Amino acid sequence: MSASPTSGLGMTSQRSRDRMVRQLKDMGIHDARVLEVMRTTPRHLFVEEGLAHRAYDNTPLPIGYEQTISQPYIVARMTEACLQRGQPQKVLEIGTGSGYQAAVLAQLVPRVVSLERIRPLQRQAREVLNVLKLDNVSLRHVDGFGGWPEDAPYDVILLTAAPVEVPAALLDQLTLGGQLLAPVGAAGRQNLIRLVKTDQGFEKQDLGAVSFVPLLPGAIA
Ligand code: SAH
Repeated sequence: MSASPTSGLGMTSQRSRDRMVRQLKDMGIHDARVLEVMRTTPRHLFVEEGLAHRAYDNTPLPIGYEQTISQPYIVARMTEACLQRGQPQKVLEIGTGSGYQAAVLAQLVPRVVSLERIRPLQRQAREVLNVLKLDNVSLRHVDGFGGWPEDAPYDVILLTAAPVEVPAALLDQLTLGGQLLAPVGAAGRQNLIRLVKTDQGFEKQDLGAVSFVPLLPGAIA
């Protein structure tokens, strides 16, 4: 983790951020709000210093503990999907990881709650979010399979790790009209699924193939 927002400035220049945003546009991200937040959020603070020069490449990067910070395109696409059904007031993310997705969301929605099972990752994410003064994000160290009923209901529940099936407890924590976005399936063959809660039940939409780390049970200190 870099301590200062300006460290490694040469390698993390505006030029490399602008190039990343051009790639996101070429890949089909259209929402101007999302593109602007992707352009201004310092992704290099969310990766190890030694990887800062690759922070604006459109690729996932290791963050330790066998986890990765998602590819910028995936973060942009998930964020765009979050905003597609009207402005959410409260979003639950499962899988804080580096905190980058939470940071992007926190600039577009009033309140973000994010759950992480690996304590040291949660601590690192907290530090960076503090540096960025994103104080509308609540981080919780917990196994996310059960969601976080204390702050429910949520307009959006976003999973950034893949379960084989959507955990039923999460569906109870959605508002009526709210949506859950999750990569679902075994390693290497997941699809991004959208479930919208209606008064009849759930409407399901398949948003295409994706690749995420698995959602694993149990919190680790
Ligand atoms: N959103 C992250 C991507 C993190 S990768 C980012 O922007 O960097 C997925 C994360 O999900 C990992 O940190 C992993 O530890 C976490 N995870 C996996 N299973 C989990 C569970 N049951 N509860 C909470 N977090 C979980």
